[in-house]
Amino acid sequence: MRTKEENICLIQALSNANGVSGFEDEVAELGRKETEAYCNVTIDSLRNTYMSLKNNRKQPCKVWIDAHSDEVGYIVQAIKPNGTMNFLTIGGSDISSLPSNKVRVQTAKGEYIPGIITSKPPHFVSAAEKNQGQILSDLAIDVGAVSAQDLKENFQIRMAAPVVPDVTCTYDETHDLFMGKAFDCRIGCAALIETLNQLSTEMLDVEVEATLTVQEEVGERGSMAAVDNIDADVCIVFEGCPADDTFSPDYLIQVALRKGPMLRHFDCSMITNPRFQRFALDLGEELGIPVQESVRSGGGTNGKYIHASRHGVPTIVIGIPVRYIHSHHGICTLEDYENAVKLAVEIVKRLNEETIRSF
Ligand SMILES: [Zn+2]
Repeated sequence: MRTKEENICLIQALSNANGVSGFEDEVAELGRKETEAYCNVTIDSLRNTYMSLKNNRKQPCKVWIDAHSDEVGYIVQAIKPNGTMNFLTIGGSDISSLPSNKVRVQTAKGEYIPGIITSKPPHFVSAAEKNQGQILSDLAIDVGAVSAQDLKENFQIRMAAPVVPDVTCTYDETHDLFMGKAFDCRIGCAALIETLNQLSTEMLDVEVEATLTVQEEVGERGSMAAVDNIDADVCIVFEGCPADDTFSPDYLIQVALRKGPMLRHFDCSMITNPRFQRFALDLGEELGIPVQESVRSGGGTNGKYIHASRHGVPTIVIGIPVRYIHSHHGICTLEDYENAVKLAVEIVKRLNEETIRSF
């Protein structure tokens, strides 16, 4: 079991890691480094990371624990003559929130250097432009180059360079608050890593294999590949999920900070197995772990392909509430993280062949 300080460091390192969809090597390596003491780790060519507990004994059923390693960000589409860059978004972003944010752009050497998403000074904005609203092609990324040649030669930036928000994760000890980027789903990655750690000293009636899967934000592509490599009987998907407690009417708030992990019944990608879901909800209640429930009109998770794979894999989603996901800055708490880990650990400790077959 990691200490509180170690968990905080783990969450900060994962939040800070550069890993927009398709460029997730840093997150995969961090996953390997953090788990290889208690897991056998392999990484595939997509950069999906597979971790199976070293203390696994041969058992009739396997539990799969998943979290996605990517984050929303950008990719350089084209270099302009003035040295700035056109870009496309990777994953869902609100264009109006982008101008004047700092970003990190990967160079040809693999380093990340700072840049800014352009914001036209009001002095130059015409009345017509003001009324029009912004579209993506109005924006560019600027690292301070003065020409295309300068950008290519002196900054070593090329077409298709991946770009992530330039945000450093902070933890406020007094109020137990993290502020940072990419908590969707790096807070879930951290929860997965710590769950494996706590399970590594248990005698379990199931085998446990976990994945940090890539490219969830662009259509759950990593998990689509992983389902062929893991013969799972049941699955727990960790997510950094959108908190709605600062803008929804009270009766509709389903994901609030400090109310514990969220168990999702329904979204666009999956109708959660009601028997496994009930098992998890009842266990939370029995153990006094706060749990929230949600029915979402939108959204989706890696449960999409996992639950519909093979013979059907009963899958639940354990979401850790994060305010303002898919923007450069999110807020989440250690308290909700710890309760999510606790719930997952206690679920896995109680799973056996008979229980799983009853789902
Ligand atoms: Zn996510």
